[in-house]
Amino acid sequence: MFITEIFKSIQGEGTRAGLPCIFVRLTGCNLRCTWCDTAYAFHGGTKMSVEEVLAGVDELAGRRNGLHGSQVAIPLVELTGGEPLLQEEIYPLAEKLLAEGYTVMIETSGERFIGRLPREVIKIVDVKCPDSGEPDTFEMRNLEELSESDEVKFVLSTRRDYEFARDFTAQHGLARRARQVLFSPVFEDPEEKWPGLDPRALAEWILADGLPVRLGLQLHKFIWDPATKGV
Ligand code: SF4
Repeated sequence: MFITEIFKSIQGEGTRAGLPCIFVRLTGCNLRCTWCDTAYAFHGGTKMSVEEVLAGVDELAGRRNGLHGSQVAIPLVELTGGEPLLQEEIYPLAEKLLAEGYTVMIETSGERFIGRLPREVIKIVDVKCPDSGEPDTFEMRNLEELSESDEVKFVLSTRRDYEFARDFTAQHGLARRARQVLFSPVFEDPEEKWPGLDPRALAEWILADGLPVRLGLQLHKFIWDPATKGV
């Protein structure tokens, strides 16, 4: 499998924001969101076996000393990209991480079917909004695959995106299907290639409409410079 980076950081998003986490960033994506902040993962990468990725995770998690299960120093792993579901090895990797006692999360664009992943994997599933540049890419079968531990995420760049996310959430009963629905404003590009969405405006829209969603800010972009990779 092709891997862009394996690193240790603080989980920046979702209901586990703030927790130490090992990230495995797979190379390659078939979408091109206008505000993508991981375009460096589109190409290249290092070819690694599933066992080599596991060893890299174990080392960063502090398992070199033979700690297992609940003794794992950092028990949380996120599989991300790029789009991690483009590579077939993601399935044995997820299974082996679970078998080793990790809590496994995956962050996916929502364009690929999530139903082949083990039920225990926590899925963070995006739904692309109109102004992402990749509208209408959501795999609708994924709605039936969501479990009570999964989260659905909308990244919003405009009021039009917000209205789409609000209506999609209501139309498909997302608050009932998933543990959490996340509305995340686009963070302004450090090189000003795209504008951000003011989190305060988004907060006010959510409150005005009384939505059962969580405003998600990318914590790591407040801790480190927003352009920093590997965090
Ligand atoms: S799906 Fe994710 S990795 Fe792919 S272009 Fe969009 S934001 Fe970037």
